Amino acid sequence: WERRFGSDETAVLQRLHDTTVRHGRVDRRDLHAIAEEFRLPVAAVAGAAGFYADFGGEHGTRHVRICAGTSCFVSAGDHTAPLAEAALGVAPGRTSADGSVSLAEVHCLGYCYASPTALDGHTPITGPDLGARLLDTEHPAAAAPAIPYRVAGREAVVLAGLVGAERSWQVWPHVVTAVPPGAVRAEVALAGLRGRGGAEFPVAEKWRSAARGPAPRFVVANGDEGDPGSFCDRLLMESDPDRVLEGLALAAFATGASRGAVFVRSEYPVAVARMRAAVDAARAAGHLGRGVHGSSFDFDVEVVEGAGSYVAGEETALLHALQGLRGGVRPRPPYPTESGLAERPTAVNNVETLAAVPWVLRHGGGNYARLGNRTETGTKLVCLSQRFRHPGVYEVEFGVPLRHIVENLGGGLKPGFRLRALQIGGPLGGFVSPDDLDVPLLAGALTEAGVALGHGSLVAIDDQIAARELLQHVWRFAAAESCGACTPCRVGTRRGQELAAHFPAGSEQILSQHEKLLEVMSVGSLCAFGRGVPAAVRSLLRVYRDELTSGDS
Ligand code: SF4
Repeated sequence: WERRFGSDETAVLQRLHDTTVRHGRVDRRDLHAIAEEFRLPVAAVAGAAGFYADFGGEHGTRHVRICAGTSCFVSAGDHTAPLAEAALGVAPGRTSADGSVSLAEVHCLGYCYASPTALDGHTPITGPDLGARLLDTEHPAAAAPAIPYRVAGREAVVLAGLVGAERSWQVWPHVVTAVPPGAVRAEVALAGLRGRGGAEFPVAEKWRSAARGPAPRFVVANGDEGDPGSFCDRLLMESDPDRVLEGLALAAFATGASRGAVFVRSEYPVAVARMRAAVDAARAAGHLGRGVHGSSFDFDVEVVEGAGSYVAGEETALLHALQGLRGGVRPRPPYPTESGLAERPTAVNNVETLAAVPWVLRHGGGNYARLGNRTETGTKLVCLSQRFRHPGVYEVEFGVPLRHIVENLGGGLKPGFRLRALQIGGPLGGFVSPDDLDVPLLAGALTEAGVALGHGSLVAIDDQIAARELLQHVWRFAAAESCGACTPCRVGTRRGQELAAHFPAGSEQILSQHEKLLEVMSVGSLCAFGRGVPAAVRSLLRVYRDELTSGDS
């Protein structure tokens, strides 16, 4: 991008990561050195260092992250942290006195199909014997199970490369040399492709808007898959990074962008490494660089590692993070397509969205539009959590009933468990009861049912999970991940935690007190996070109303 302060700020987060690894923490001297290197005000670097969870506190030589996501909560209750603490001898958020080990709690490591989970350095450890395996440093941990995936619709679109239906980088050389950018946008418009990150915004419209602005323009792949319960972007970035990159290259061509970035959350270290290797390979193969495949189109990509912030997945916050700033949101308009990175037109698309684009260009927008539903076309990846008999990623067509996904694909719950609720779309999505599974998988229908599709995660909540504990879990996540920029969300999420912890059992009061709070948050919050939490909490109160008001919670 253009150099705002005379240096490339995308490297600021990386430098803070490197410093944390080298020194265990970021101190005043480090802040000054980084500020000088990037010709930034020290306050800007200090602001970023103070914002992201990865740079908070001290890291031991051995740094262990434990997952506090919803699937891990369902499979192990609140026991994961005490198990890890007992094994390592250090509390979450602390470092041992000799600096040899530190423990951090994070909201989702993307192993929801095999919960509970910890990440020991870059090594995932999953399963109920997690504590024992953290303790056993003599024996290397067995490899975590790979993500199971399956195409359950008529066509493999996003998973086409993974199931061997087609290879990546087949469309790109032809498109960049022989197809006008407007025709690429028209094909994607014909497909009816919408953003899969949760916003459902028409992709072609976003690209048209970015293409209208002045050059230089930028494109960004959003791989900050923060929704606890989702792991499909991790699957794509780790197992088919070429497809994501080809989609990003096509997005760049359609918008006339000369540079791109893939923003990958730091909880996915393998994805970071594989995306970087894929960029190197794509450069070597001539897919990226100057005059790509003999055309007049220049395009290059860099991979930027996030630093532990849920809110940074929101696109305006993500753009701040990419520029090495605090990952706070800003009001829109202006939209990133008008003023994004370095105040230039920038199209931000989710990883799953981009992974569908090569198929659309190869098979035609009309063929894509024939999949799914008339109003919501194409396919969606859905992620089924550990409590299902057959957890994993499934590519389904829009419009299939939830019941089909839960019962036929997921096979219901593992023996010994009964489905009590289904959490859809992560913490900002919501809960439905087993009686509501005839709702089709459509963003519109789910909104009518009081939940949001989000990124397509389905976390099975079994009947052994107490309603009050689930409510506390949801509020704990909201309070931990609120960026704090606006009062209704910052204070409201803490008040929600207090309500959930202290309301008197067997009283309707919990509902009325919550309603007042949720109203303030949904009206007054600045971004989709603070406005989304209330709907999710309302759905939980609805599904668990009897337990919460009868005292059985
Ligand atoms: Fe930050 Fe929450 Fe306000 Fe969004 S709603 S800006 S996450 S404090």
